[in-house]
Amino acid sequence: MKKTIVTCLAMLCMTMATEAQQIKSPDGKVTVNLELTDGGKPCYRVSYQEQEVVTNSPLGLTTNIGDFTQGLELKETVQNKVSQSYDLRNIKQSHIDYEATEAVATFTRQGNPVMDIIFRVSNRDVAYRYKIYPGRRDTRVCVVESEASSFVMPEGTTTFLCPQSKPMGGFARTSPSYETSYTLDEAVGKNGWGEGYTFPCLFKTPQDQWVLISETGTDGNYVGCRLLNEQGGKYRIGFPQPGELNGAGSTTAAIALPGFTPWRTITVGPLSNIVETTVPFDLVEPKYKASQDYIYGKGSWSWIIGMDNSCNYDEQKRYIDFSAAMGYQSVLIDAFWDRQIGYDRIAELARYGREKGVGLFLWYNSNGAWNDAPQTPIGKMNNARIRRQEMKWMHDNGIRGIKVDFFGGDKQPMMQLYEDILADANDFGLLVIFHGCTLPRGWERMYPNYAASEAVLASENLHFGQGACDAEAHNACIHAFIRNTVGSMDFGGSTLNKFYNADNQHGTVRKTSDVYALATAVLFQSAVQHFALAPNNLTDAPSWAIDFMKQVPTTWDEVKFIDGYPGKYVIMARRSGDKWYVVGINAEQQPLKKTITLPMFAKDTQLQVYSDDAQLQGSVKTVKQNKKLQMTITIPCNGGLVIMQ
Ligand code: CA
Repeated sequence: MKKTIVTCLAMLCMTMATEAQQIKSPDGKVTVNLELTDGGKPCYRVSYQEQEVVTNSPLGLTTNIGDFTQGLELKETVQNKVSQSYDLRNIKQSHIDYEATEAVATFTRQGNPVMDIIFRVSNRDVAYRYKIYPGRRDTRVCVVESEASSFVMPEGTTTFLCPQSKPMGGFARTSPSYETSYTLDEAVGKNGWGEGYTFPCLFKTPQDQWVLISETGTDGNYVGCRLLNEQGGKYRIGFPQPGELNGAGSTTAAIALPGFTPWRTITVGPLSNIVETTVPFDLVEPKYKASQDYIYGKGSWSWIIGMDNSCNYDEQKRYIDFSAAMGYQSVLIDAFWDRQIGYDRIAELARYGREKGVGLFLWYNSNGAWNDAPQTPIGKMNNARIRRQEMKWMHDNGIRGIKVDFFGGDKQPMMQLYEDILADANDFGLLVIFHGCTLPRGWERMYPNYAASEAVLASENLHFGQGACDAEAHNACIHAFIRNTVGSMDFGGSTLNKFYNADNQHGTVRKTSDVYALATAVLFQSAVQHFALAPNNLTDAPSWAIDFMKQVPTTWDEVKFIDGYPGKYVIMARRSGDKWYVVGINAEQQPLKKTITLPMFAKDTQLQVYSDDAQLQGSVKTVKQNKKLQMTITIPCNGGLVIMQ
């Protein structure tokens, strides 16, 4: 994150008219048409290569200083080129050159400007946000009550969506936890379980164009949003549900004026655009400087196999030894460490880890008064004074970071809590992982000590139920296209135990192969990864699997989508330095047979190929890259593939 250069090049045009305004991406492939329809209602359409991907859709806001969805005049639209370069080592790509066309449309009422709609159109993304002007009589604040912001999908579009759960339900009344099961390739027109859908939301038009809708730049100045289906193909931005945060606080957003809303983002085109997009990060800025160079990397985590009882001193010491043996940077100590280990002996473990080059992450309950989760430490992260005392203790004892769990929804005070925890943690040099939490929205760039969020049906469910194990590959084939493409995903996977149990003989059964475990270590992107490996894997897992897990990177320079379909299979490549890792997994009953072109490997390169036989027995062999730069691969159901130099 060394430099950020924003240059506004020559002003492209300024239009002072009420006819439709056209905004084109630098390469001309993405077009937005903005117009004011009858009754002064702003609307927009999006097309990709002349094919409509979002049809005429309303824009605007309803606030307590005015209804800015109708009765507006479009005064002028100013277009500029935006060119920006930035470095970010905790996302899918370490250096980004962002080029876009920006259009600022100013809307007036009785001659006074009331709202701008700011569009950014890049070669694969459309984004927009609102600026609200101070009102008459010197109004300096307003409440945004709702957004008209809609996304009307073309007829025949199918949906790939994660239903939003109702609040105050599920385990210890901790929902919504943003981890319900996706429905894939369904017709438009449903509204999930009645409460719409969790971002991001993926659609496929009848012309086979893909559309990923999400939001970015959300912080304590707004609410986290979701997508509501109103009718047919019409989806609209929804605010939090009244019951979130135990019913406390409003569902609306209060902002100071002039003020901006978060960005609404629409990534369009082939699946490569969806997988490779950096739009959540392109549109935001760092909110503070990193207090130090944060250490990302790999770690181990006893809880996923051993659960609460494993959070004791001896077992954590064993996991520190295990992380050291793997060359890993950390150990994550989960809930109840305060009772079962205690602060003094945690300090002892931190000293022990430091000697071995292993830092500690400590688990915290975010509560508060927003659910019944009894896990401790509790009541430490929701109060600034206590939180900062706790963080000072962590800083003084060399703790690496925190994992904060059980958040209470997306109302504005909860979004402020996420931001406050991050900002305070940076003061004390701590990385932050969120769990039982909302989707991150550009946070990798906004908050330099942000590590990752769960916001997915993560590995814990593999321990809790066989159904999740049976559907593991199916679910993993969804995340690269949806959840993980917009933000770091703390999945906690890559299990090499056969059983989710410390004795590796009881409990839920892993159905996926060892090569699958290696492939998902690359497929799932998060700069900090705590894998579900166990110390026994040093002796009971294949040595090629352990050797791979020792060296796999967690930070990346580039990503390339190769092939795949949400829920069925995925093949993609990530680059770390000059080393490419091509990985694939398959959830379909039939073995996946493909000839893939791998231009990242030169002719005659000796490649290591990790693959499975029909019984999911893995092996590694050396293959020379042919002159066509192609390889024919087979991935059985629940199996994996890794190709590397
Ligand atoms: Ca969870």
